[in-house]
Amino acid sequence: MKFLRFGDPGAERPGLIDAQGRLRDLSRDIHDLSGEVLGRLGTFDPQKYPLVEGTPRLGVPVAGVGKFVCVGMNYTDHARENGMQPPREPIIFLKATSSLSGPGDAIVLPPLSEKADWEVELGVVIGRLAKNVTEDAALSHVAGFVTVNDVSDREFQIERAGQWTKGKSADTFGPVGPWLVTPDAAGDPQDMALRAWVNGVLMQDGHTSNMIFPVRRLISYVSQFMSLHPGDIIATGSPSGVGMGRRPQIYLRPGDVVEAEVGALGRQRQAVAASAP
Ligand code: ZN
Repeated sequence: MKFLRFGDPGAERPGLIDAQGRLRDLSRDIHDLSGEVLGRLGTFDPQKYPLVEGTPRLGVPVAGVGKFVCVGMNYTDHARENGMQPPREPIIFLKATSSLSGPGDAIVLPPLSEKADWEVELGVVIGRLAKNVTEDAALSHVAGFVTVNDVSDREFQIERAGQWTKGKSADTFGPVGPWLVTPDAAGDPQDMALRAWVNGVLMQDGHTSNMIFPVRRLISYVSQFMSLHPGDIIATGSPSGVGMGRRPQIYLRPGDVVEAEVGALGRQRQAVAASAP
């Protein structure tokens, strides 16, 4: 099943897509797609809920995101493009949750951003508390999967000292959605194509079978260092084809359009804009 949140920013309502592809409003039964609701997404009967007319704006398809955990250098092809050896253990870092934005919202470049780049990624949404979980049990803690664009300013990330967080965390640098797709509908997380386009040109064309550390290992691994709560998102790394890896390098400019798609998780599309003066 596909779950989403629709409406104006900050006033989104929970919804789902029924078998006929129609949007239905869940707000009669639940306050939001957050917390314990994420552990029981399989219990909703779509026919019970009213249809929504039109095509409202979509927000991030999960609410109450306490942590946005990212995995660096998790694809063999991306490590190669950066001239790096595959890491021995997963590289993890945190992206500010204030970067989260809807799948069709603009990417707004911060005033000093000259090297904003795209990274299409498979996102994992946690549905049940995960703490020191085994790899075998890891996927039972997943509420669903989402398309993520881990937008990154490479100057802030690499040339401005310290950790990567600075380059990853600007407002609007975390588009998620359009939908949260439950594991039964999403299919094998290690068998998904990932693609990203800039102005209609295919830039990334990867596959989750090329992950160095698969999703079950990442959940287990992260849960050794921090508890994962319902609503937390893990962005599992990006394949090759980012702007930094190109010769010459390409970075996002106001007016560009970025699209990103992972497997059956849906395609997102953002216009790039300059920040207001
Ligand atoms: Zn990333």
